[in-house]
Amino acid sequence: MPSLLLKNCEWIVTQNASREVLHNASILVQDGAVSQVGKASGSADKEIDGAGKIALPGLINAHTHLSMTLFRGYADDMLLQDWLAKKIWPLEAKLTGEDCYYGALLGAAEMIRSGTTSFVDMYFHMEDVARAVAESGLRGFLAYGIIDLFDAAKSKTERANAQKFYDYVKQLGNPRIRFVLGPHAPYTCSAEMLQWVKEFAEKNNTMIHIHVAETRREQAESQKQHGMRIVEYLDKIGALSKNMLAAHCVWLTKSEVKMLAKSEVKVAHCPVSNMKLASGGVAPVPEMFEARIPVALGTDGAASNNSLDMFETMKMCGLIHKAHRWDPTVLPAQKTLDLATIEGARALGVDQEIGSIESGKRADIILIDANAPNLRPLHSGETVISDLVYTASSGNVDTTIVDGHVLMENRIITSLDLAAVCAKAQELAARLVK
Ligand SMILES: [Zn+2]
Repeated sequence: MPSLLLKNCEWIVTQNASREVLHNASILVQDGAVSQVGKASGSADKEIDGAGKIALPGLINAHTHLSMTLFRGYADDMLLQDWLAKKIWPLEAKLTGEDCYYGALLGAAEMIRSGTTSFVDMYFHMEDVARAVAESGLRGFLAYGIIDLFDAAKSKTERANAQKFYDYVKQLGNPRIRFVLGPHAPYTCSAEMLQWVKEFAEKNNTMIHIHVAETRREQAESQKQHGMRIVEYLDKIGALSKNMLAAHCVWLTKSEVKMLAKSEVKVAHCPVSNMKLASGGVAPVPEMFEARIPVALGTDGAASNNSLDMFETMKMCGLIHKAHRWDPTVLPAQKTLDLATIEGARALGVDQEIGSIESGKRADIILIDANAPNLRPLHSGETVISDLVYTASSGNVDTTIVDGHVLMENRIITSLDLAAVCAKAQELAARLVK
């Protein structure tokens, strides 16, 4: 594999253990991994000029439904239940593998453009999504969305579907694509299913991705159905697991947060989607930090966000907790950036591989064009961090690199034909909503 030198970057935000930010330094990439950071000497097969650029680890989107890009902007400003029942579910019933493939390509293009290099996805037709991810060059943690609706026959089919996708990913043998088990939620999956999922995940060492306590209504239903809160129920049936990455976790009590921590569950926080769908309340993220729960950031699907923009998500995340707690110190910019990079990697169990720019890690790196009016002046290594979180936008992303492969340079995507993907997505979406 050709080597790559990111030469003389104005700033390198390493996100290593001491959160070093280097000035006028270089990064050498060999065999898809970072081999030197700092005064990288010598030459490489390909060089990218880092002057006027900020290098940082590629962002990690810990919760999305990629193919839902096809529904972007189709139905907004509705009550959650109406939105799902009247608009989203009827469209999802019509989705084909081809729709999901092109929806995923469109989402992949959006992520490459906005500096996301890894993401966790849960949806249907996942073989087609995996194909799109493989072509795009991104790093995907992919889950088939399991929904058994407490029906024994459906439960059996869904287990077979999950197993089938597990086998598919295994035979694919692509190190950028990982299998994840995706029980949709405790209100759509039976206790037996959730127990099966936990066993399967432990046996095969895979992550479990699930929606937990997104709305207040879910907690009320759980009380009615099980006589206890959602996390208490998951604990009681033995479904909580150290392999679990729980999305949302908005409506949790402090004791539920402690239960998640005790079982070593990780959380994918989705502030933009929570605000847009008016989930109400604000996820108790400071309490999660206190309980030492690894927290990652996610956008959720493009039908409820409506973008896959992690720069926007970082800013919103910082702001919502400050506003909610009347405390500007509750979530400093460095911590917010951590959630989208190294802490996100920890929540996904891959912090030894990605999440920072360090020798030996996979080369998932983005370059921000700092010669933009919204990014000058840059004062110091410390203020660069707050510039990235509060000022930078996805439009400032110039170069996106995954596993040492350049997927975008000078804002031109090289791994996909963007015009063709946009045209096909337009055509398929028009057919779906007809
Ligand atoms: Zn979701």
